[in-house]
Amino acid sequence: MKALDELTFDNRFARLGDAFSTHVLPEPLDEPRLVVASNAAMALLDLDPAVAETPVFAELFSGHTLWAEAEPRAMVYSGHQFGGYTPQLGDGRGLLLGEVYNAAGEHWDLHLKGAGMTPYSRMGDGRAVLRSSIREFLASEALHALGIPSSRALCVIGSSTPVWREKQERGAMVLRLAPSHVRFGHFEYFYYTKKPEQQAELAEHVLNLHYPECREQPEPYLAMFREIVERNAEMIAKWQAYGFCHGVMNTDNMSILGITFDFGPFAFLDDFDAHFICNHSDHEGRYSFSNQVPIGQWNLSALAQALTPFISVDALKEALGLYLPLYQAHYLDLMRRRLGLTTAEDEDQKLVEQLLKLMQNSGVDYTLFFRRLGDEPAALAVAKLRDDFVDLAGFDAWAGLYKARIERDGDYSEEQRRVRMHAVNPLYILRNYLAQNAIAAAESGDYSEVRRLHEVLSKPFEEQAGMEQYAQRPPDWGKHLEISCSS
Ligand code: AMP
Ligand code: MG
Repeated sequence: MKALDELTFDNRFARLGDAFSTHVLPEPLDEPRLVVASNAAMALLDLDPAVAETPVFAELFSGHTLWAEAEPRAMVYSGHQFGGYTPQLGDGRGLLLGEVYNAAGEHWDLHLKGAGMTPYSRMGDGRAVLRSSIREFLASEALHALGIPSSRALCVIGSSTPVWREKQERGAMVLRLAPSHVRFGHFEYFYYTKKPEQQAELAEHVLNLHYPECREQPEPYLAMFREIVERNAEMIAKWQAYGFCHGVMNTDNMSILGITFDFGPFAFLDDFDAHFICNHSDHEGRYSFSNQVPIGQWNLSALAQALTPFISVDALKEALGLYLPLYQAHYLDLMRRRLGLTTAEDEDQKLVEQLLKLMQNSGVDYTLFFRRLGDEPAALAVAKLRDDFVDLAGFDAWAGLYKARIERDGDYSEEQRRVRMHAVNPLYILRNYLAQNAIAAAESGDYSEVRRLHEVLSKPFEEQAGMEQYAQRPPDWGKHLEISCSS
């Protein structure tokens, strides 16, 4: 295990030079204090978890001190926001501090979000507030624990620095970890500014560092794009299967690695609602829950357009064509597992669709339904769940099909089915109201609730003693919280 001053840096993105990023020093926050740290994320850097409690930890991740080998840089990129192209975005309130290697040879970007103004801040103040930093921290680590590819979060550092949003709040920083911070929007930036040499340099960088296996293919860039399509199809299938709504799927928020990235007004579904819009500035519902699937493809097409200097249009179209079938295959596979099925039948898709329709009509809790379905033998479970449905005849018809399907599925014990289902159906998810409770306590200086919630969410499939309150439907006040986009 390492101490904080033993991290090894190798700042490969910084070495690409000033066309790709700008050197900027973090602007420190006043009176920094540790809000929460993730031991699992600390382990990725081989850090001893105890160092999180030392004063130097809070100083490092609030911009007061820096490692000698760190090279803080603000990256430039652009992107399609809500369908329209914005020619220049970039790290307006975050800095890539540097890249660190762990003992296993894995490499992690350290990105400090909320680090002050940069040349890309536009009208913003370069800051992040405590509320949004806690939300990003909890979501990154919770998604990871659910098996959904995501950027990670090392810690949140709070402060006394005032930051103005709708009201006065306090500044905070979250330290984000990811193997790369390159977004679709990076490629779009060099494409639309007509800088082919830099675009080629960026493509080589991503190919060599993140898709080295594609080098062996006859057309390495095409192989890389295909891989990106595949990873996005799989990531979005997992979002849909677990009820995660990202909220701002602009191409500048899409990672080139196919990991969930840049958390804003995201939400997990409480009641199942295909039309749910978690971002209340999204008036058209462009990023509604069910639209995430076609938007995933739309975003990949925007990336494909930016890759036309390297790959033929026909080949790009063919690769884009992989997205929907791959998405459907992953999604159906996950939903079968959530239903406890081990085999595949043609009618399974219909079984899933019918269930979701019934859940939608009755406002059934998406997470708890699947968990409860695995609690008991199938016949008993559906009998107990029946009360949650308004359309009883509809539910009975579905339950009949489901029981028959389970019987055909295989020769396993009820106990085996229970264990298998509980391993894919979480009991604990990051419900908005739970995050809200933790944030309210943190804003008044009590970080125990954020820490406890983070702990609970780090083992979402495991029933934890004394934690029943984290596995409930939201109370009335917590049902339709409007999460502000301002962060
Ligand atoms: P986001 O909606 O967080 O993905 O941000 C979109 C763009 O706005 C990015 O270029 C951000 O860096 C920038 N941005 C967001 N909030 C701020 C802020 N408070 N100060 C400066 N730039 C910001
Ligand atoms: Mg963003």
